[in-house]
Amino acid sequence: ATMPPLLSAIANAGRHGVLVKSAVVMERLGQVDAVALDKTGTLTEGTPRVTDIRPLAGSGLNEGELLTLAAAAEHPSEHPLARAVVDAARERGLDLPATDDFDSKPGVGVSASVDGRAIAVGAPARLLERSSDAHSVLAAITARELEDSGRTAVLVTVDGTPVGLFAIADRLRIDATATVACLASLTGTAPMLLTGDNARAATRLADEVGIDDVRAELLPQHKVEAVKELEHAGRRVMVVGDGVNDAPALAAAHTGVAMGRAGSDLALETADAVIVRDELRTVPAVIALSRRARRLVV
Ligand code: ADP
Ligand code: MG
Repeated sequence: ATMPPLLSAIANAGRHGVLVKSAVVMERLGQVDAVALDKTGTLTEGTPRVTDIRPLAGSGLNEGELLTLAAAAEHPSEHPLARAVVDAARERGLDLPATDDFDSKPGVGVSASVDGRAIAVGAPARLLERSSDAHSVLAAITARELEDSGRTAVLVTVDGTPVGLFAIADRLRIDATATVACLASLTGTAPMLLTGDNARAATRLADEVGIDDVRAELLPQHKVEAVKELEHAGRRVMVVGDGVNDAPALAAAHTGVAMGRAGSDLALETADAVIVRDELRTVPAVIALSRRARRLVV
């Protein structure tokens, strides 16, 4: 028997490196008329590196001590920024102390206790929310300075007091700009960028790939709200993301697509399709495959 068009499209998508989970999904991919892309791990490669280590004056910590505390707290996390911090500590041969009470908050950061001290590592804007003491002011200025160069600033606090920051940089995927342009012509609108990262880093990267609509410093539920807003306006939204923080938006979208290589288990399970080959350009390719199959079906 000849294979039904949607099934051969699934097989074809597989050859392009995209796992499409059902015939219904294969069909829906071609209906998409708006795309929302995550930043870290989606438009970027997702293998960020620590470029600066800045203990704050008065913290009593040197670079190695700051990195040791942060890496110990980040060790259990699967977030790309956590891996960057742990790798930086490993490259310097630092021994990581044992931790207790690990916790992580998507879009915010991690916390753990080391020798009875509470360590938090995460987004400066979230961790500094309500403080105006000298340490916090100094930390906010340093964060801003690091972010102005388009990098992600990560803050470390001990018992709630800021002790230092890292700057972390990630490379744009080589096919990011071409994929954005291709998605714009397929759907009739340029994709939008949804990120938990700071607005300065997000805007810089968006300018580079040709995206105007940037929503930054979003918590997971804010990504969902952005998707729902578009769907209420009658759009069929595809979300492409990799993180635990993207999972609610992947579920809320008309079609959710997860980046497979560095993607979190939750994102892979929630998504309707998974990019296995780790090339962003496969996203417009499967939209085109779906449209072709749909023409054959009707
Ligand atoms: P994105 O939406 O760009 O993929 P996330 O929502 O995963 O980013 O993260 C948003 C921000 O939260 C990060 O830029 C970082 O500041 C902070 N963050 C989240 N998880 C961690 C972590 N494990 N370590 C440090 N910072 C974190
Ligand atoms: Mg991400």
